[in-house]
Amino acid sequence: MAEFVTGVTFGGNQWTPAYVTDINQKTCIGCGRCFKVCPRDVFDLVEKAEALNPDDFDDDYGDFEDDDDNSMVMSIKDGLDCIGCEACSKVCPKDCFTHVHKQAA
Ligand code: SF4
Ligand code: SF4
Repeated sequence: MAEFVTGVTFGGNQWTPAYVTDINQKTCIGCGRCFKVCPRDVFDLVEKAEALNPDDFDDDYGDFEDDDDNSMVMSIKDGLDCIGCEACSKVCPKDCFTHVHKQAA
């Protein structure tokens, strides 16, 4: 049986954290809800064009060369700080998040 990292509620019940591993930036609308609710500062809002087409950006200046789409999407800035609370997924209107349980050591 797979053993996952678990936490304990104040009442003593076990729960299994589900850590964020990915955001679907093609469906993200950049609403910022996940950013606001995350207690661990895991996210960062970035330009959608750069996130989806990193090869089109100049390394020195970050200028987008192909079009002028500068709408924003969410990105994972520091995924190792995620505590797996799933608050981000609960508020996301576009079901953008992928979560995983962590194998216990
Ligand atoms: S699961 Fe919780 S800690 Fe992790 S990214 Fe989402 S809101 Fe932040
Ligand atoms: S809540 Fe969902 S749609 Fe809104 S910025 Fe976060 S990932 Fe994107």
